[in-house]
Amino acid sequence: MRWWPIIRPASLPCSASRRIEVTLSELYRQTVEAFAAAGLDAPQEDARHLVSGVLGLTLTEMVTEGARVIDAIEMQAVAEAVERRKNREPVYRILGAREFYGLDFLLSLDTLEPRPDTEILVEQCLPFLKRRISETGRARFVDLGTGTGAIAITLLSQCLEAVGVATDISEGALETARGNALINGVADRLSLQQGSWFEAIDGRFDMIVSNPPYIVSDEIAALQPEVRDFDPLAALDGGESGLDAYRAIAAGAGDHLAEGGIVALEIGAEQKVAVARVFTEAGFKLSVAAKDLGGNDRVLIFIGSD
Ligand code: GLN
Repeated sequence: MRWWPIIRPASLPCSASRRIEVTLSELYRQTVEAFAAAGLDAPQEDARHLVSGVLGLTLTEMVTEGARVIDAIEMQAVAEAVERRKNREPVYRILGAREFYGLDFLLSLDTLEPRPDTEILVEQCLPFLKRRISETGRARFVDLGTGTGAIAITLLSQCLEAVGVATDISEGALETARGNALINGVADRLSLQQGSWFEAIDGRFDMIVSNPPYIVSDEIAALQPEVRDFDPLAALDGGESGLDAYRAIAAGAGDHLAEGGIVALEIGAEQKVAVARVFTEAGFKLSVAAKDLGGNDRVLIFIGSD
């Protein structure tokens, strides 16, 4: 059943002139109410972003255009989006795109939704890339398991002299990343390769970067439905220990890292010690450990140990 009728039900006598006129502020209020009743954690924030996204309004216009009358087509579009959100589909999956580091990224079924946590990884990588460029005039990196391409594309848009390779095992993800590279104007500096970890990769790089799947398999069932039911499992599942991807990356990194290069990784909040051990045993040294905005360990950077 529709959560809010666009037009009075046929059983009620109703002429065109008596059609219910809903304003933007009323629509927002109804949406918040529907989300709160559905038990969502952040009904106001979700309503603000979903309604503005569906209607193509800025967040400021959501406030300044409150008296605007919403037409039937807009009502229908918002009603459908609201139903999807009530089924726990994340707001930005419904909208089909998400902002990351100030850039827009299209999402698809094959891609993880980029998270603000991953912006910390990008922030930690940038000074190294920029230093490398100032020292040598160039920098070349590989982003393993690129998904939407958020990491690689953001790095390229921030470092105009850098070039990147991005890999993914999923063809669908690579198509999404290709679209995102075009939208963000870096397609000429990004090469996309299909394969698992280093499978499709030749040569050495100044930086190896990745936000690999790192959730312990047994913990996936307990994730919030927004993640468990909508992010692709292949982008989340890190195997029995959560460390499978780190082991694969550590095993191949020595053959693909240039002298003086770094390996920069996103990690799960509880994985600092375990991932550090995997890389130490493979001959690397922990150089930087950074936390996310929630104070959780989130990024590790390793260097060669000699
Ligand atoms: N950060 C994601 C989450 O916990 C997981 C992403 C990943 O496994 N790389 O929802």
